[in-house]
Amino acid sequence: MADYTGPLPVPSPETKPFWDAARRHELALPFCRPCGAFFYYPRGACPRCLSPDLDWRAVSGRGTLHTFTVVHRGQKGFPLGVPYVIAVVELEEGPRMMTNLVGITPDPSAIRIGMPVEVTFLDATPGATLPHFRPVGSAS
Ligand SMILES: [Zn+2]
Repeated sequence: MADYTGPLPVPSPETKPFWDAARRHELALPFCRPCGAFFYYPRGACPRCLSPDLDWRAVSGRGTLHTFTVVHRGQKGFPLGVPYVIAVVELEEGPRMMTNLVGITPDPSAIRIGMPVEVTFLDATPGATLPHFRPVGSAS
């Protein structure tokens, strides 16, 4: 278990399946049955067709880096320490997800927009696991 002191998710009925999947080290997204498409963030109806006919499905955990920023002045006690990378990842299945990019030097010269990334899971507490992303092939 990581020595985690940061904020923890507070699952709602709409987000509980996401956090439950993360605890199993799976990345799962809401899927609209009528549209046949994934979306993110979780909500009670599809953002395209407003259907409540939703399902949760595991996704590949792979994507590309859409954008990022390096944070040099974080909040006191934030577990990643500074500097760290906040990123938006475009998943293979389409949706974009805000996350942390780990396993790379937190320096803009080391990070490329469009680089392939994959999910990795931080077991923050026995009840909470946080999906982060790392460059494909990195060790952490
Ligand atoms: Zn839909």
